[in-house]
Amino acid sequence: MDNRFSTIKLRGVAASAGLACGISFIHYEKLTRVRQERIQSSQVRAEIRRLNRALAKTTSELEVLRNEARSSVGTELSKIFDAELMILEDADFMTKVKQAVVAKLQNVEYLFQQEVNKTVRSLSRSKDEYMREMISDINSVSARLLHNLSGFEDIKLRRTRTPIIAFAPFFSPGEIISMRKANVAAFVAETGGPTSHMVLFAKALGLPAVVGVKGCLDRVRSSQQVLVDGNKGEVTISPPTEDWKAFKKKVDSLKRRERRHFASIGDIPSATIDGHRVEIQANLEVPTEYDEKLAGENVGVGLYRTEFLYLNSGSFPDEEAQYAVYSKIAEQFRSQTVTLRTFDLGGDKFTEHFRNEGEANPALGWRAIRFSLDVPKIFRAQLRAMLRASVHGNIRIMLPMISSLEQVVRAKRALSGVKRDLTRRGVPFDQSTQLGIMIEIPSAAIMAYRLALEVDFFSIGTNDLTQYALAVDRGNAKVAKWYRELHPAVLRLIAMAVDAGHEHHLPVSLCGELAGNPIATKMLVGFGIDSLSMSPNSIHSVKALLPQMSFEESRQFSRRVLTMSSVAEIESFLGEDYEKIR
Ligand code: PEP
Ligand code: MG
Repeated sequence: MDNRFSTIKLRGVAASAGLACGISFIHYEKLTRVRQERIQSSQVRAEIRRLNRALAKTTSELEVLRNEARSSVGTELSKIFDAELMILEDADFMTKVKQAVVAKLQNVEYLFQQEVNKTVRSLSRSKDEYMREMISDINSVSARLLHNLSGFEDIKLRRTRTPIIAFAPFFSPGEIISMRKANVAAFVAETGGPTSHMVLFAKALGLPAVVGVKGCLDRVRSSQQVLVDGNKGEVTISPPTEDWKAFKKKVDSLKRRERRHFASIGDIPSATIDGHRVEIQANLEVPTEYDEKLAGENVGVGLYRTEFLYLNSGSFPDEEAQYAVYSKIAEQFRSQTVTLRTFDLGGDKFTEHFRNEGEANPALGWRAIRFSLDVPKIFRAQLRAMLRASVHGNIRIMLPMISSLEQVVRAKRALSGVKRDLTRRGVPFDQSTQLGIMIEIPSAAIMAYRLALEVDFFSIGTNDLTQYALAVDRGNAKVAKWYRELHPAVLRLIAMAVDAGHEHHLPVSLCGELAGNPIATKMLVGFGIDSLSMSPNSIHSVKALLPQMSFEESRQFSRRVLTMSSVAEIESFLGEDYEKIR
């Protein structure tokens, strides 16, 4: 390890909580570092051979990565690498590069990069979120190919003795999954916002991460010591030796505590000191090593993001494939509730096989329930699979992105039709399967008093509720400072939804990222939230707070919060109180 460099402190978005220290590893070199060189016409054939060799090497590396992901997280997720492999197989693109080598007599990596830049420039003119995802894929594959063209050693994340802090412009979810097999302690990305997919995966895996760290790749070199504070969004490169030692001591002791904690979640009472029950549940999207542990510790599933079944494979799983997944999870969590959310596709959740082309504002466009109601074949197959799985456990069905009463009425009609059909065919299902809705659009919070008459439960999605109430793109690092879940307007919408639900005796959950933020726990309990559903790695710290607070005091506390008018005031009020009870 090298400590010759002066200390550099960088700030970004505190994306996935936790502390980590290790040595820097630049996962992808920036594309701009390729030099332009002239070649002789006698070198053309050798240059093209170099491209072909690099292509073959890159393909086989991606295939290995796909296999690694397959063994660590299963077949579905591993298919994420197929999109990257398809880019490499684009024969037209490679022909253009080869033709340019012949015509311009320049080095192949430079001409390859020129072609990539052209494609990326034309894609980035589009405002479509899907196009931005595609740019990520293209950049990721291109960087890997350029690396191989330049003859650098293997850039795969390797298992090393010292923990690694991985740096890159961005990471794809598949890369994050494969980090588990390498000794990656945390990652730092130049781009990305607090709820981008790489962050959701990092949280699910308990991997500390700081994203949106502008210019970090220009400041860091390989093999430098790095400290990452995922709670504060801070990255320190080449810290003074005493800081490194103190930080490492803290990381080691936190790790020991975490191991003990995970095994004891079930022992912590799900109630405040004065006996008010609050369920603590998990948000799941891909099968992980946590599932079994969570089920063993009596943690239920407050949100299962079924769209990842599609996003990881690029095609819609049919009814049977879905039934297999849903019944497995229902069985695994048999003694608990499993809340399956119907596909929430659209916005930032599209892949190349299913585009919402021509939408200027995909987040406001054809997504989630709007898509499901418009494509009844897919919606009905999903409802059938969920209902059939209901005999294997305690399943609840949840509808995302509800913005009007009409959508609930139409979805209920579809559900009744599916139930009638299953009954007619003698297919068993639980007749009393509950149907709920996400409250994640301001109109739903405002209309909650009426929507409550139609459904069995509410679940408040603060990620989207914040995005739509404040008109701030949740995945855009440029505006991340305006994305504030503790904005008084967001908190009023939450309180309004809870009160409306309770007036009609509905249980109300909260499953956005706010649920896993311990400084908000007392306030949310005070609002009367019945269950908080969060990333598995936040569960212990949030649940441990419950037996330390009284419901009566929390109610008064949350009423005080609602009198406040700025995020800063609310944050410092919550933060100071949290310091007292943690
Ligand atoms: C939310 O919007 O808060 C939510 C939980 O849903 P997602 O993050 O999947 O959009
Ligand atoms: Mg949402």
